[in-house]
Amino acid sequence: MIRNITADIYQVGECVSGASGHEAVHVYVLMNNGQPILIDCGSQLHRTGIMQALNELLAGQTPSYVLLTHSELPHAGNLAQVARQWPSIHVIVSNVMLPYIEIAPVLPLGQITALRSGVTLQVAGRTLEFVEALLKDQPGSQWIFDRQTGTLFTGDGFGYYHSAEQCGRFSDEIAGGVSVAQFQAYHCTAFRFLRWVVAERLNADLEELLARYPITTIAPIHGGALRSEIQLHVNRLQTALTNICADSYVGDN
Ligand SMILES: [Zn+2]
Repeated sequence: MIRNITADIYQVGECVSGASGHEAVHVYVLMNNGQPILIDCGSQLHRTGIMQALNELLAGQTPSYVLLTHSELPHAGNLAQVARQWPSIHVIVSNVMLPYIEIAPVLPLGQITALRSGVTLQVAGRTLEFVEALLKDQPGSQWIFDRQTGTLFTGDGFGYYHSAEQCGRFSDEIAGGVSVAQFQAYHCTAFRFLRWVVAERLNADLEELLARYPITTIAPIHGGALRSEIQLHVNRLQTALTNICADSYVGDN
């Protein structure tokens, strides 16, 4: 399913049904004035559908870059096919392990670059900033901020399970928005280390992030884009994180 989120940013992908509900696996596309950029490239399990959607959306344009939030398979498993189809594409990673293994036979290693958080990338006049991920499911997980549209791409962070009626929807198309329970169920399984986290510190870092970046849209890979009431949704995630940490915290206060 191809959906326009805001300005020139599109959401592509599928979802899988599990015990907790549906889980989205998205690829985001910035059309970027003829020099498209992909954020993540989906799972090899969804290769056929994702490639069809990307071809339809790009309509013959060649993406310049694919930026990976991290190298876990739902985010990078389709990379070899993306590289086969667009052999001039440049891959930006924060962790070279999986791209090295999967891409090395397909693309020259010179087309794979590791960029650390705090670094910006300029593509066709657009500035993308790599942001230290506040929720990491791999040590190299990073978030990406697009200054032009105020969109923060958050990898597994801000993910949520959805019901069959909510497939492909954005937060403003879900009655009442995304709930605390939806965030909580997802983060509880995606970030199992939260049992060792002090919620107050993590939540303070989330507040600081909101103050530092003019965020108008949050685009998680495992959920539809949050494009309404950003502060409210961040507060709901904070409540979910507080609940998860409190449920399982076993250390000293
Ligand atoms: Zn679904």
